[in-house]
Amino acid sequence: MNAPEAAALEPIETASRDEIAALQLQRLRWSLRHAYDNVAPYRAKCVERGVHPDDCKQLENLALFPFMTKSDLREHYPFGLFAVPRRDVVRLHASSGTTGRPIVVGYTQGDIDRWSALVARSLRAAGVRPGDIVHVAYGYGLFTGGLGAHYGAERLGCTVVPMSGGQTEKQAQLIRDFKPDAIMVTPSYALVIAEEFERLGVDPAELSLRLGIFGAEPWGAGMRAELERKLGIDALDIYGLTEVMGPGVASECVETKDGPVIWEDHFLPEIVDPDSGEVLPEGSSGELVFTSLTKEAFPVIRYRTRDLTRLLPPSARAFRRLDRITGRSDDMLIVRGVNVFPSQIEEQLLRDARLSGNYQLVLTREGPLDQLEVRCELQRACSGTLPRAEVDAIARAAAHHIKTIIGLSSRVTVMDFDTLQRTQTGKARRVIDQRPRPE
Ligand code: ADP
Repeated sequence: MNAPEAAALEPIETASRDEIAALQLQRLRWSLRHAYDNVAPYRAKCVERGVHPDDCKQLENLALFPFMTKSDLREHYPFGLFAVPRRDVVRLHASSGTTGRPIVVGYTQGDIDRWSALVARSLRAAGVRPGDIVHVAYGYGLFTGGLGAHYGAERLGCTVVPMSGGQTEKQAQLIRDFKPDAIMVTPSYALVIAEEFERLGVDPAELSLRLGIFGAEPWGAGMRAELERKLGIDALDIYGLTEVMGPGVASECVETKDGPVIWEDHFLPEIVDPDSGEVLPEGSSGELVFTSLTKEAFPVIRYRTRDLTRLLPPSARAFRRLDRITGRSDDMLIVRGVNVFPSQIEEQLLRDARLSGNYQLVLTREGPLDQLEVRCELQRACSGTLPRAEVDAIARAAAHHIKTIIGLSSRVTVMDFDTLQRTQTGKARRVIDQRPRPE
């Protein structure tokens, strides 16, 4: 990194671990006190456990405090966990929540300012610079993706194109006409846009895009390579969740591309055993838990994300990183007793460059046994041109990898390009579970 670039980093991004820990402890004590004093349901949990914010004398003492879970958020729908009077909340967001009540979160003006600054920091880490044009194709609205990305890009000093999701032909047209440097979108919808360029016969080298900042759903190394090739970009991973803030809780650096850096001056991560809740030793895999250190309207203390990953040591910045998120514990499929995440199957499919990154898992039950069908698609260039025998061989090889690496028998169906339904608005629907529900 040359000197002017290094100078643009915030001092805390290159601080010593001792300085970071001192700042975290000071902020943690404030955040615990703030939640205890102003969020009655959380105070009640602390009282029940016999713990008080004054008991937090060092960072490790956080383990004494009760967790917050998704069901706490649902139970106190909509505003029951806000820590400031409603009139001080300048923005609401909600997560899509596939079942039951959505989860509603609020932000003070200060929260919005900090969020914007963290997304700006994330974009900077990804290689975006003031003056760049940023095309935002995350959905705008209650979903945090669109507005979160938008405010951050504006804060960095970029020209923002608030395209939102959907209207794929128009996405492609605006990208060709406005010539953005960067795109922010879910990886699955990025692939849909890339396929539109293929359909139009546009060579990735003709596109102005330099960078893609992709998040809101799990994606792996195979998808990174696919998107980089199809769009002619560096593809970077941004992580976040509504409950903790939105996009920009952690984000990847372009110079290392080695996992999202957690902005630890605002969010304290822990990894716990998903069953017992015990804090696991540094470097272990388990469930990611976050405590917000600076949030005013909606502080979260030990929030159970259900995301499974592990913490990696600092590299390009002074903060620790996230390993790839395997998936959420509630996305995990149990098929004939084998635990499997859709992203593991994706990884096996993308070993074959003739398959596109679109796939769907269909689960049915025949008699007592679960059946898994993996539907996938050929790349546009191979579709309709490969002999049947070769397509069958691709299916057999994929089923073999899934069996030997994941331990699961499946039927792989290789379809022509563009057979599977594409996402128009954001996160892909990868699983169709048609198994009867237990009584
Ligand atoms: P919803 O809960 O409705 O899906 P969110 O946008 O809040 O809405 O979803 C946040 C979740 O999305 C995270 O908890 C995580 O499971 C997933 N996610 C977000 N970013 C990433 C990423 N970069 N990699 C993997 N998963 C991600």
